[in-house]
Amino acid sequence: MADLKAGNTASLYIHVPFCAGACDYCDFYSIPVMPHDSRPDTYPEAILKEAEIRVQEFGLIHIPTVYIGGGTPSMLGPAGMGRLLSGLGKLWNQGIKAPSEITVEANPESAGEAFLKTCRDKGVTRLSLGIQTFHEPSRSAVHRVGDGALLQERLRLVQDLFGSDFSADLITGLPLQDETILLQDMERLLAYEPGHVSLYALTLEPGTPLASHGTPAERGLPDPDRADALWIAGRDTLEQQGYGQYEVSNFSRPGKEALHNIRYWRMENWLGLGPGASATVIDDAEGRGRRFTVNPDVDAYISWSKRAMSVQDAAGEGLLMEDLDRLTLIKETFLMGFRYRKGPDPGLFRQRFGLDMEACIPDTIACWRNRGLLESEPLALTKGGLLLLDPFLEAAFRELEKKDAIRTGE
Ligand code: SF4
Repeated sequence: MADLKAGNTASLYIHVPFCAGACDYCDFYSIPVMPHDSRPDTYPEAILKEAEIRVQEFGLIHIPTVYIGGGTPSMLGPAGMGRLLSGLGKLWNQGIKAPSEITVEANPESAGEAFLKTCRDKGVTRLSLGIQTFHEPSRSAVHRVGDGALLQERLRLVQDLFGSDFSADLITGLPLQDETILLQDMERLLAYEPGHVSLYALTLEPGTPLASHGTPAERGLPDPDRADALWIAGRDTLEQQGYGQYEVSNFSRPGKEALHNIRYWRMENWLGLGPGASATVIDDAEGRGRRFTVNPDVDAYISWSKRAMSVQDAAGEGLLMEDLDRLTLIKETFLMGFRYRKGPDPGLFRQRFGLDMEACIPDTIACWRNRGLLESEPLALTKGGLLLLDPFLEAAFRELEKKDAIRTGE
């Protein structure tokens, strides 16, 4: 597995799979934690063990960004998060170039003052707070823990400690939500002046309780047209308040964009640590890559981390591996890159695949340009085009699949 190096540079995503409850719409790998569950206590050391192994395995010398997400990282508590951040800090003291951004996700119910101060004092540059909605009937309809008063108290604390260097997530299209409720949520949130807001449209992921139990109408969900209108009302409000849309669901004040996520949209290397996390490593010269996914089983992961093993023995252990051939990688570059308001990076595309994007999908580009949905400089979807990302990608993929030369690179 070590035959494909991460070019010595990769970001780190760390997955913390513990939550206070189980939200009905969630399809992430996460486990509701019961009182006296000791796994969150032992988890930071398991992650640090994996970090040590992967950093050596991939010969990393630079980690541009770190993102600790989940699940709910604040479930580690101040002590666990403190140990995790101190342990990661040792990497930068051992000669690895330090990240310019460290983000920690937190949910208000578990992010008290001690937790937030630990994050700030140990180098976290950006906090990402899962708000979703203040509207309690909508929260209870999807079994989301936490109440509106607590959310506001925690937002005040986050603002005191991080200024505007925080992001907050909101969801549109929740049960029992209408435009008045959404706009009230936004007014409440924006009063705390976050530098960044993620506005997600609720999706019914197969297999989740929200998709499986009852009809959408029985669950109080808006019909698809109303759900679209809600998201657009949210987008317009953010833009009026000075938050620029720089990705399908992400808005920021100038200079407050999420650097870690931009690396995903540009398809730059990242390693994923923790059960359920995945890594993508691309060989720029060859135009091919690999994806490594850690087996989503926290108990197996913790036992694995406790075994004494050399880096060589551990290489590839516990990872599911998938080759990303040229066609797959070009598709993923489009899938991720056209989410981003600046589009895929043309120089990186040429370097990896030896051709221009225009040469891959000329008909799709001409058609969407004529419809005023695609800009040329840079090659990117317009604001209206982003609303039609899925049909754009379907057209682009159909055109790509007809071309054998794209697949083989000959
Ligand atoms: S808090 Fe987040 S990760 Fe946990 S169950 Fe809810 S949506 Fe999923």
